[in-house]
Amino acid sequence: MTHSQSIVDILTMEGVCAVRVDPVGLEGMSAAAGAYVLLIETAGPLSIRLPQNDVSVLAPGTYLYVGSANGPGGMKARLRRHFRCSKKIHWHVDQLTTCAASVEALAVAGGNECKLGETLLASHQYKMALAGFGSSDCHICSSHLLQPVTGGHSA
Ligand SMILES: [Zn+2]
Repeated sequence: MTHSQSIVDILTMEGVCAVRVDPVGLEGMSAAAGAYVLLIETAGPLSIRLPQNDVSVLAPGTYLYVGSANGPGGMKARLRRHFRCSKKIHWHVDQLTTCAASVEALAVAGGNECKLGETLLASHQYKMALAGFGSSDCHICSSHLLQPVTGGHSA
């Protein structure tokens, strides 16, 4: 089973409706606010810089990032940005999406990114990938970056 399918299944069991979005389908989306899961495949090891940590190296593989977009343009504008390879590094996750082999997204209208992260962790199919990643403003989660418990490393 692909990760996008297993994530959809995990969320569906919790009554959360996640819709797969690709760069083409994105253009037909409304500007609804909500949360999303990015499914990022990295091609090689990545050095990640977080303000409070030393540089960490992420092994090549699959990573899940939970985020939300509640501003103008909603998830559509935010996901369009995440799908772009070339951009100024602003969020932690930009360090992954600018070098990714592929980026897929699952959109949850009206969703909450911390709830999505909690639900995925509770499934025991995904675990925290890097402490502090994407969660500087979050008082609930220790990370908004997850990875599969098994099969996360393609190297
Ligand atoms: Zn959180």
